[in-house]
Amino acid sequence: MNIIPFDDRDGYIWMNGEMKPWRECKSHVISHGLHYASLVFEGERAYNGKIFKSLDHTKRLFNSANILDFTIPWKMEEIEEIKVELLNEMKLSNSYVRAFAWRGSEMIAVSAQHTKIHVAVAVWEWPSYFDPEAKMRGIKLDISNWRRPPENCAPVHAKAAGLYMICTLAKHEAEKKGFDDTLMLSHDGLIAEATGANIFFRMSDGKVHTPLPKTFLNGITRKTIIQLLQNEGIEVLERDINLDELENVTECFLTGTAAEVTPVGRIAEFEFKPSNLCKKIMGQYSDLVRG
Ligand code: PMP
Repeated sequence: MNIIPFDDRDGYIWMNGEMKPWRECKSHVISHGLHYASLVFEGERAYNGKIFKSLDHTKRLFNSANILDFTIPWKMEEIEEIKVELLNEMKLSNSYVRAFAWRGSEMIAVSAQHTKIHVAVAVWEWPSYFDPEAKMRGIKLDISNWRRPPENCAPVHAKAAGLYMICTLAKHEAEKKGFDDTLMLSHDGLIAEATGANIFFRMSDGKVHTPLPKTFLNGITRKTIIQLLQNEGIEVLERDINLDELENVTECFLTGTAAEVTPVGRIAEFEFKPSNLCKKIMGQYSDLVRG
């Protein structure tokens, strides 16, 4: 694959108060974030120079840090300003924005009370793979054997590095079988989400159903899409959804900052035809983010 490694790029990253050359932004190999997954992050997108729901992402970053029992040593307004400054510095108007915070090297043990909290923001080009025709064919999802842990077994409402361990394993398992992504169930067998995006179904009752975010992120895109659907007069039911209900699904799509609105054409042996609803919601979301 022809991807430029992320440690070998030009430009700047804002790190701990400084706009530093990209290649100089290093963290020591013995750091708590790396060894114990004490890292929280955000994935955001800028469209035409403006980050969609920037403040919501910053709030979630701070909340994720609190859930992991640390405090980001900056004000939310400062992070908001840094993101804008960095987009200008990098001369990127359509891009992905990654803000993150992690525990440093002062303590390498389970207890990490006295670690320094590091914060960085990076932006890079990530084209919105927006070929609506290709997307309308719908991606193929497997059903993973990996499940989302319950709320009392992991900080499931934080966007925290450690939770992505099972997502990577689940996605690799699916890719090896020729799928694009995979559907993850929650610990108790309910439909949860894909590995990096929330899921919506249009069912034979004409309504849109989406799982309750009890064991996974209540995505910023998910909330936006629920609002868009309701504005269209479409009823949205947030509820527990079982796998055997897939036979009643007529359309299915994923939502997420990176995924935007991505139609799903198949989940395991269940096939759907992305149609009017997917098209409408993709169009509306695209218009909304470009403001
Ligand atoms: N679930 C997971 C596991 C994710 O990584 C993401 C992307 N942040 C989402 C859902 C969707 O969240 P959002 O719409 O806020 O990007």
